[in-house]
Amino acid sequence: MIDVLVVGAGPAGSVAALVLARAGVRVLMLERDTLPRPKLCGDTLNPGAVGLLGNLGLSGGPLDIAERMTGMLVTTPDIAVRGAYPEGQVALAVPRVHFDQWLAQAAVAAGAHLECGVRVLGPVWRTEPGRPGVMAGVAVRRDNGQTIRMPAMLTIAADGRRSALARAANLSRHPARPRRWAFGGYATDVDGMSSMGEMHVRPGHYVGLAPIGAGITNICIVTGRKPVGRTPEDVIRRVLASDPRLRERTHAWRPIGPPHVLGPLAVDCDVAGMPGLLLAGDAAGFVDPMTGDGMHIAMRGGMLAAAAALEALASGDMTLAAGKLTAARASTLGSKLRFNRWMRRLVGSRAAINVVGAGARMAPSMVTRLVWYAGDAA
Ligand SMILES: Cc1cc2nc3c(=O)[nH]c(=O)nc-3n(C[C@H](O)[C@H](O)[C@H](O)COP(=O)(O)OP(=O)(O)OC[C@H]3O[C@@H](n4cnc5c(N)ncnc54)[C@H](O)[C@@H]3O)c2cc1C
Repeated sequence: MIDVLVVGAGPAGSVAALVLARAGVRVLMLERDTLPRPKLCGDTLNPGAVGLLGNLGLSGGPLDIAERMTGMLVTTPDIAVRGAYPEGQVALAVPRVHFDQWLAQAAVAAGAHLECGVRVLGPVWRTEPGRPGVMAGVAVRRDNGQTIRMPAMLTIAADGRRSALARAANLSRHPARPRRWAFGGYATDVDGMSSMGEMHVRPGHYVGLAPIGAGITNICIVTGRKPVGRTPEDVIRRVLASDPRLRERTHAWRPIGPPHVLGPLAVDCDVAGMPGLLLAGDAAGFVDPMTGDGMHIAMRGGMLAAAAALEALASGDMTLAAGKLTAARASTLGSKLRFNRWMRRLVGSRAAINVVGAGARMAPSMVTRLVWYAGDAA
């Protein structure tokens, strides 16, 4: 029997599986897609994420050829401030299609098993009279149509913001606000890109730009309920063309392939699991892309879930792990997640953006400190 099932081979799932496999646990990762697969993302591993990978002893692969980003250019309608990371620290721009496959392979090299083309449909419950239900594995459908149950002592749901398991266990919900959608893809001929990533914050939307090398720019736009445009590409085109700071720089942009769309984005979650189930990464609550630290938080969440699973396996008691994980997440990630919620609200308020703009004009170092904090730079 498998000790731990990890659902999802994104950053959270692969790191959880890697840590568990290194500790000698029998771990099976289930991934609905075939790797490599594309993922809508700004593709930026912030300095904290780069440090975490180093601490795990992971190097090489796509990290070696990634673009090195030395900081962030942050703009509002009124200000433009370059916040450089501290000396010696960089973010890496790595297309997710390469990064996620590489990280999953690292988990497999550590001893984890990986099955792709397997969609988890929902939990399998174990019920005993007079006791609350315990999750005892998952029901899955393979790409060949076969539907089976997979038992496990523990399951880690790392299946992203629309986690089938978190929803089935009533642990996650879409909040009424904010209702936002993301549009993103790659393009050539974006002028003026430097070694910095860019975050352009406007009332009701924001635009992230990242230089991923070979003259290609990752463009992500996160916007409110009713974006204007006939197609996703048209939405991006209109946002860029209507922006005084970006219009000139993007007038000749040429999209590479059709953009991807995701939404509604926000998913909230108060507790990180229940007996038999632990949540990691976006499955434990979606991290708004504005702060660019979603992958770092996802990987740290994967490590915390693995630690909680190891403790539960050692004690033989699977009932306390979710509570311990919730507490560990609150103490380790709590302030970062609150910062993310605060930034998520900022873009919804023109007045708040103006206040931040006015503050930044008087004290540009404030933006640098925000860039460091968002980037988990020491
Ligand atoms: C527009 C946008 C831009 C972003 N930019 C950045 C950025 O620049 N830097 C950054 O750090 N973060 C960024 N993020 C956030 C980042 O993408 C996420 O926080 C991160 O991907 C979360 O990792 P995860 O492993 O939790 O989930 P995911 O990366 O979503 O991985 C979940 C995995 O589970 C699989 N899965 C889902 N359902 C099932 C199922 N039922 N059965 C089996 N498998 C399943 C999926 O196929 C996927 O492989 C951005 C997000 C968005 C939307």
